[in-house]
Amino acid sequence: MALLINEDCVNCGVCEPECPNEAISEGDDIYVIDWEKCTECVGWYEEAQCVEVCPVDCIPKDPEHVETQEELLAKKEALVDGQGSTVMPDQSKKLKAEYER
Ligand code: SF4
Ligand code: SF4
Repeated sequence: MALLINEDCVNCGVCEPECPNEAISEGDDIYVIDWEKCTECVGWYEEAQCVEVCPVDCIPKDPEHVETQEELLAKKEALVDGQGSTVMPDQSKKLKAEYER
């Protein structure tokens, strides 16, 4: 099941860089989660990273997008395959910088 950001969001932006799938972005009024990219952090972390950092607790599960653990893991794998990499975005940048040194 993907997560969603509700209207209690205060637009602090803290959650955006924490998402391993780059599923969070700034919307017109509040931050939004692209459910097609949200894996509830399955495959990356034990806990949903956005929920961990959100100061106002405004990221519940999205009842419109119910998925099993297996489906979430498959989604994560597909996202990683799509990026052509199995390393985290920050790791990629670090590795690239080291390579170019
Ligand atoms: Fe991103 Fe994880 Fe939050 Fe989903 S639960 S939006 S994958 S940080
Ligand atoms: Fe909104 Fe919470 Fe993300 Fe801040 S951390 S932008 S309040 S969803």
